[in-house]
Amino acid sequence: MKYRELENTLKNKGVKLVAVSKTKPPQAVSALYEKGQRVFGENRAQELLEKQELLPEDIEWHMIGHLQRNKVKALLPDVSMIQSVDSPRLYRQIVKDAEGLEKKIQILLQVKIAEEPSKYGFQTQALKEFLRSEPWQSNSNIRICGLMGMASFVEDSVQVRREFRSLKTLFDELKADVFSQYGDFSTLSMGMSGDYDLAIEEGSNMVRIGSLLFGERD
Ligand SMILES: *Cc1c(COP(=O)(O)O)cnc(C)c1O
Repeated sequence: MKYRELENTLKNKGVKLVAVSKTKPPQAVSALYEKGQRVFGENRAQELLEKQELLPEDIEWHMIGHLQRNKVKALLPDVSMIQSVDSPRLYRQIVKDAEGLEKKIQILLQVKIAEEPSKYGFQTQALKEFLRSEPWQSNSNIRICGLMGMASFVEDSVQVRREFRSLKTLFDELKADVFSQYGDFSTLSMGMSGDYDLAIEEGSNMVRIGSLLFGERD
């Protein structure tokens, strides 16, 4: 799809586009940057760092893949948002490594919504318990900006819709309750090349799109 067309459609709906450049060369990022795109997503810390170094400073880099705790420290200076915070241990590592940083790190809590087995993400109940017990309000360099989820990779749009809807329901519940006094909690990241239209219908305001923009990956 043409970038311009997608970008316009999303802008009209108030949806932020994260262009997922994983496995694609820096030139592919540059080409989209020239058209005005500033937000890019990567799923491996090393690849994000390598591209960040080569590309313009004003790119906003989002980490969207599972992150090992021993990679956090190196990643923090160059990342603006970590969308894949999928466990209390990773959260605490980010808090610890962000101490003394001269910027705020935005994070999204990743929730397991796929009915098919998936490895990463909080279960809904575990996330609620975490937010009740963790002193996340205390002053730190971390901003909890919302939730991220991935639907099952299936043709069944009824199922995909149901999964997205469950994340929207949880998002609304947390926003009204746990985060009611906390203005940063406003992002619901769901939807990829194959299902972003469904995700937006179900309330997404951030989509992560790779193959539709850059072509299929090998
Ligand atoms: C690869 C990836 C995407 C983009 O997938 P496409 O189907 O190529 O749009 C989105 N989110 C995550 C977490 C990914 O790993």
